[in-house]
Amino acid sequence: MTYDFDAWRARSPYYDETHDALAESVRTFVTREIEPNIDQWEADRELPRDLHRKAAEAGILGLNYPEEYGGHSEGFDIFHGMVVSNELARVGAGGLGASLMTHGIGLPPILALGTEEMKQAIAPPVLAGDKIIALGITEPSGGSDVANLKTRAVRDGDDYVVNGQKMFITSGMRCDYMTTAVRTGGEGAGGVSLLLIEMDREGVERTPLEKMGWHCSDTAAIYFDDVRVPAANLIGGENSGFMGIMRNFNRERLGMAMSCCSFARVCLIEAADWARERKTFGKPLAGHQVIRVKLADMARRIGTTQAWVDQCAWAESKGVGQPADFAMLKVQATEMLERVARDAAQILGGASYLQGSKVERIYREVRVNAIGGGSEEIMLDLAGRQLFSR
Ligand SMILES: Cc1cc2nc3c(=O)[nH]c(=O)nc-3n(C[C@H](O)[C@H](O)[C@H](O)COP(=O)(O)OP(=O)(O)OC[C@H]3O[C@@H](n4cnc5c(N)ncnc54)[C@H](O)[C@@H]3O)c2cc1C
Repeated sequence: MTYDFDAWRARSPYYDETHDALAESVRTFVTREIEPNIDQWEADRELPRDLHRKAAEAGILGLNYPEEYGGHSEGFDIFHGMVVSNELARVGAGGLGASLMTHGIGLPPILALGTEEMKQAIAPPVLAGDKIIALGITEPSGGSDVANLKTRAVRDGDDYVVNGQKMFITSGMRCDYMTTAVRTGGEGAGGVSLLLIEMDREGVERTPLEKMGWHCSDTAAIYFDDVRVPAANLIGGENSGFMGIMRNFNRERLGMAMSCCSFARVCLIEAADWARERKTFGKPLAGHQVIRVKLADMARRIGTTQAWVDQCAWAESKGVGQPADFAMLKVQATEMLERVARDAAQILGGASYLQGSKVERIYREVRVNAIGGGSEEIMLDLAGRQLFSR
């Protein structure tokens, strides 16, 4: 028995042959459409739009979204979503999943809180890959303190007039729509609303941001200068957007934790292959006990984290997921990835420092996982407050 990218699923109670079948079909898509192009897309600093359409046709974009809005939900569960994320991670480029699947954070508030008219107008073209939707919460003044956001939307007749800035927005350069957190009321969480903003409206400007990693994912700073948006674009009630933002976070954190496990597996496999090939002091690296132990230790860290990911996914699917668990899970997963990427780079030696290897890329992408979608400090404080402050 050798370590394999997929073998863990066969020993998990949460996965069956339907998950394996989906994995195979997504793998075929990734091998054909993504693997030959990913290095070019990293250099281009964005994904081509037709990849979204192709991914929609392959059943990837609409998975686990309601059939009436163009999704595919019958016969699929939360673990099928995990399988898709795992397969997309095989190419070892985190920007791929982040940008191709931005609708995973932009669309749920609309489906949960939007009007029927809005759902019908927005969800089908997004799930068909014709339109791209992003989520705009973070601002230049800070992302952790969401309740303190400053972008203002002031009611004027049948419109809101929006002024402010958003920062670090994934798919921000290419998106057609942005689910945007704005201040419509007073200070704090009770003054925040969610507003759907079409990005071709007058007064919207965007500039690209250069990053350490996630290169194929376009990231933008976005500026609103007296942007008029119909009041009908409000997602949910006025001043009740904060709950909409919070309810999104559990799934986002779970998804990030899952992809950390997948990227860590990529690192481990790259390191193990290298350790079998590379000879030092007369034998393969894997023949040295120190290296063998390092590899086993990486597998231990990944396996224990994956088990918690799966348990949290199960809890979420049963409606008993706890925000504290998702917050702690995200910290566990990102610390695990940080350590595994480090160990893999160490085993590859100088080769890990050359651009073009999967380990080099994943190593550069560790920090965005530990910061984006809720940073380590904020996650542990959230869990601490929920579990221990009363
Ligand atoms: C590549 C990338 C893509 C992103 N995509 C999106 C997106 O699509 N949409 C979106 O809305 N946002 C996005 N973000 C933003 C991301 O969610 C924020 O970066 C994150 O929430 C942290 O906010 P900040 O960077 O402003 O850090 P800050 O909030 O300024 O915090 C800085 C540091 O201080 C720590 N800190 C803050 N407050 C405290 C405290 N009270 N106690 C202890 N420590 C504290 C934080 O943990 C952090 O380490 C993205 C970020 C990146 C890097």
